[in-house]
Amino acid sequence: MAKFSFQVKKSDLEDKEAPRRAPHIVLGMEGGGSPFGSTKYKRRRLCPHEDALIQVARLRPARNKEPLDVGWLVHAGLQRYYEIFQLAHREAPPNRNDQDAWRRYLWGARPEAEKAARDVCEAIKNEPGYAGTFDTVSTCVSAYLDHYRYADEWRILAPEETLVYQERLAKPWHFKDDQGNSIIQTDFRYSARLDILIHRYDPGKEGIWIVEHKTARMISDDLLAGYQLDMQILGQAWLLRKCVDLEALGAPFKGVIVNIISKHKTPQFERVEVMPSVHHLREFERSTRQWAFMNECFATAGYPRALGSCAGALRGYSKCSFYELCHNFPELTVEDWKTRDPGYGYYREERDLEDYVVDSEIF
Ligand code: SF4
Repeated sequence: MAKFSFQVKKSDLEDKEAPRRAPHIVLGMEGGGSPFGSTKYKRRRLCPHEDALIQVARLRPARNKEPLDVGWLVHAGLQRYYEIFQLAHREAPPNRNDQDAWRRYLWGARPEAEKAARDVCEAIKNEPGYAGTFDTVSTCVSAYLDHYRYADEWRILAPEETLVYQERLAKPWHFKDDQGNSIIQTDFRYSARLDILIHRYDPGKEGIWIVEHKTARMISDDLLAGYQLDMQILGQAWLLRKCVDLEALGAPFKGVIVNIISKHKTPQFERVEVMPSVHHLREFERSTRQWAFMNECFATAGYPRALGSCAGALRGYSKCSFYELCHNFPELTVEDWKTRDPGYGYYREERDLEDYVVDSEIF
């Protein structure tokens, strides 16, 4: 008689909705994003109510969306990886004609760097609720290390650099309606966290570049095209020009490399170069200032719900993290949620707001 055996994977036995510790708690790393960056602008225009539940009522889902945690963990692995290289790249590089010294300089730290990246994956291996996530993250990170081993001629200047621009407006926006309600905007603030700042020596590409890591469910033409007009990517280039002494970096600033890893069983890789013109950067600034004013309008209006943004295509065919709250308690306002117990599936964040970002982007 034929014998059949079935292999049950650890991830098959997990409840994929059950609360679990956030990855930054498991790893003991900072979990924040930049304080006034594109995540917050994008989230507020997608749904002002959602943004206020996070920023004003300080509510958090007890379990993040899976794409968010996978993206965060892959970022964490690559952060540790490039931090090791940065230590080895503090001195200027040797003459390129000395090929041995050149290769040693660029890639000598690779064994230690790869170990640091793999250690991030190992840290979640036995964490309850993370079996499936571990499979995806370790596949992405290992494949990335293999794919680009000895390929990039990059000097790592700075990993995880946060740039912040703040301006007190010379002419504040001030509107008053016939009820006496005011909308006032006195400051313009914008910030970004750069995954890495590099001096790139790849032939024909030499210069200063920002690198932004992304994980994606699949890589499509639309995904690749979208980065040329993406608020986050344009904002990084705008901030670098606005806040950093480019002359001191020793080479011309070229643009942003969007470094994409797909989450397939055999991951795919794409790097999109975004080199915005002064016209693109001017429009980024003009439209972002307009959105900063709109943010004040949403606050004055009591953070309206954007019904229609709750699920479906706008959410990458997923649901908003606060869907259950809005569905079960449609009459409650952000003001109510500031003091009310959020119940099962949510908790209130006690840390300072700037320390924490729940990202609603589709990674
Ligand atoms: S469920 Fe809908 S209305 Fe409620 S916060 Fe989310 S997007 Fe906004």
